[in-house]
Amino acid sequence: MRTEIATLGEFGLIKRLTEGIKLENESSKYGVGDDAAVLSYPSEKEILVTTDLLMEGVHFDLTYVPLKHLGYKAAVVNFSDIYAMNGTPRQITVSLALSKRFSVEDMEELYAGIRLACQQYHVDVIGGDTSSSLTGLAISITCIGEADKDKVVYRNGAKETDLICVSGDLGAAYMGLQLLEREKTVLKGEKDIQPDFTGKEYLLERQLKPEARKDIIEKLAATNIVPTSMMDISDGLSSELMHICTQSNTGCRVYEEHIPIDYQTAVMAEEFNMNLTTCAMNGGEDYELLFTVPIADHEKVSQMEGVRLIGHITKPELGCALITRDGQEFELKAQGWNPLKEEK
Ligand SMILES: [Mg+2]
Repeated sequence: MRTEIATLGEFGLIKRLTEGIKLENESSKYGVGDDAAVLSYPSEKEILVTTDLLMEGVHFDLTYVPLKHLGYKAAVVNFSDIYAMNGTPRQITVSLALSKRFSVEDMEELYAGIRLACQQYHVDVIGGDTSSSLTGLAISITCIGEADKDKVVYRNGAKETDLICVSGDLGAAYMGLQLLEREKTVLKGEKDIQPDFTGKEYLLERQLKPEARKDIIEKLAATNIVPTSMMDISDGLSSELMHICTQSNTGCRVYEEHIPIDYQTAVMAEEFNMNLTTCAMNGGEDYELLFTVPIADHEKVSQMEGVRLIGHITKPELGCALITRDGQEFELKAQGWNPLKEEK
């Protein structure tokens, strides 16, 4: 079934998409339905705001990304940024620009993903906007969250001798993207390979349905650890480490042998003839947390499930480097994915 958006109009569409939304958070005083939403946060909290704009053809490719997954991911990457400040996401607004190619049903799919993510992470959709677009789909989500005033974690607090920690594993989302890109050439008949995703489900899931590390933030709180610096890994570990070190005015040493990599990522890198460490260091879209803790927290973090110690913070003069398995030192380079840099 295909219902043209014009048959509902903008207000009709918003009404359809936001039907039945129940506000879960105390701070969401009033949601969709007036000129503005109303939020009410207690004074002992800091309020965190982050926003993200996704453009079709630049950030996502609808030939292999289902709309529901796209909606889910668009919401989750925003939650990830709030967690990366050691906060809790509470509300989002969703703005869409869409061309005539999209139907009401398409937008319902997209919204189903957004609403599923909100349910999983207990976040309220409190507003948004829709507009027509001449060329494709654009999604902009703004997320609002909170953190205790003394618990907000910035990128600039890393200190010499701090330990560098990372959650989960790295490079899988990037390998998932390579796999989907290969599939696309198969679909177009440009290559004579049969699509085969068997045994590669994890890579696809990491690319198409990433999760934000709410669990790690909860574990840190439960063990009374406030990281000295933290950020989420969206552009690749190398680039994020350099952000932390630049903003904290430090250097760092990370060890290749400690970089967490899933077995499927390793298999796929070999199949694509790619350097595994490069994929893990620069792949991006992992949405894992990178954080530093004082050396006194060594025992606590080393016992934390799903967290790996990968190195330590140094004096700024030492620069940022990766120590390979055979003991060689390589200066880190930010080869992270940056759409603005690709513009010619
Ligand atoms: Mg971030």
